[in-house]
This record gives sequence, structure tokens and C-alpha cells, in this order.
Amino acid sequence: MRYLILSDIHSNLEALEECLELAQGKYDETLCLGDLVGYGPDPNAAIEQVRELAKVIIRGNHDKACSGLSDAAEFNPLARLATEWTREQLTPEHIGFLRALPPGPVNLDWFQIVHGAPVDEDEYLLGPGQALPALRSLATQVVFFGHTHYQGGFMLTPKGRFQSIRCLGKPDGLTTVLSFEDGGRYLVNPGSVGQPRDGDWRAAFAILDVESDLVEYYRTPYDLAKTQQKMRDANLPDPLIRRLGLGR
Ligand code: ZN
Repeated sequence: MRYLILSDIHSNLEALEECLELAQGKYDETLCLGDLVGYGPDPNAAIEQVRELAKVIIRGNHDKACSGLSDAAEFNPLARLATEWTREQLTPEHIGFLRALPPGPVNLDWFQIVHGAPVDEDEYLLGPGQALPALRSLATQVVFFGHTHYQGGFMLTPKGRFQSIRCLGKPDGLTTVLSFEDGGRYLVNPGSVGQPRDGDWRAAFAILDVESDLVEYYRTPYDLAKTQQKMRDANLPDPLIRRLGLGR
């Protein structure tokens, strides 16, 4: 079994379609770690695609805010503007769909999926300060998370040493393969499909190979100019348009 793992799509249809194109023929089922919407110009189309494709979808903080399950009070002003715009665009049916999404963690085989962190769906696992306690209390050997929009993650080696998992600066396509070792613990971030923040603007995703005990990280360029033009046409805030090109 091979799982395509998508996270933080953020209404970016061009990025999503490019990921699906690259992943074609390489996976059996799809899992989504949340944040289908928010920031980008195509919330309804992104939901339709992911919903049709994914076996399991958990909610992200933007899914909650854009569907009115939470207010956007803790968001910065630009994210809040994009949240309000998204709320106006979403069909009532899609709002209902987002509101009904389960929170993480969800257990699958021998691993879990979460949006932010295993104990708190809204927590950011940015570095050892947050990741080390999380790794020490993992319920399964491997947990997939998103929310930070940084591809890679963190691990404890079988000897208990903490390491960051890095996959930056590689050519398009399959960039990095990480094999899971017996006794190791892993927090794996597939990266963000629609709004990467790790300094690389290309869309990111991962594929988990259950039989081979490994995860593959992928990166692909997409029609950035088209997404940015749609955002301009929708009068979405300029810094949100620019950051897509910077991967920040
Ligand atoms: Zn996100």
C-alpha cells in the first residue's frame, strides 16, 4: 500500500493539480492533513478535488476558521482578510463539509495523521523545543503532520538522538527518501501543497510506502503566475500573493 499524503493545500488549485500529475501511478490511497482552504483563490474547487480523492481528511485551523467553527481572532490581519473572503466564496454545502471534518490524530495501520501536533491540532512543531517532547510521547512509530508548511520533519534515531529531516535544495521530482528504522521515531511533514514556507516556492507532498517502510518527499513547480493572477483578480492581499513566489 502506498499513500499519497497532502497537506496545507490552501485553495491553490494549480499547485494541487501539479502534485497529482507528478504522483500519478505512484499511490493507492490519499490522505489529507488539513488546511484545504484559506489564503488561495480556489476554495470550492480545491475542496471538490480533495474530497473526491482522499480516503481520510482531517481538519486544519484554516478549515475551522473559514467554516466559522472558530473565529479568526488569533490570525494576523492578512490571514483574517483571506479567511473572510474564503467564507464568502464557499458554498453552504462546502461549509458543512469543512465543519464536519474530524480533528487529528487519526490512526491508520501503524501510523497517525495530525494537522499540527499529536496533543494539540493547532500547535506548530517548528524545532526541537516542540518536536522533542512530541517525539518522546508518540503513540505510533510514525506521525505525519503539517501546519508549519516546512517539508521534512524530525526524528529520534534508534539510539535516541534527535535529528531534523531535511530535503531542501534538490531538483524537481523525488528529492529525498527516508527509511524508517526499527526503534526510531518519526514526525514527518510532507510540506505544503499550496503555500510552502521553507524558502522553496515549489509545491510539496510525500508518499508513504507501507511495505517498504519508507517515505518519499517530492517537489514540483506549478503555474505560479496563474495562481497569483487569480488572487489579484479576487483582490486578495498583495503580501499573500508575493509570498507564494518566495516560498515564505
Ligand atoms: Zn496551513
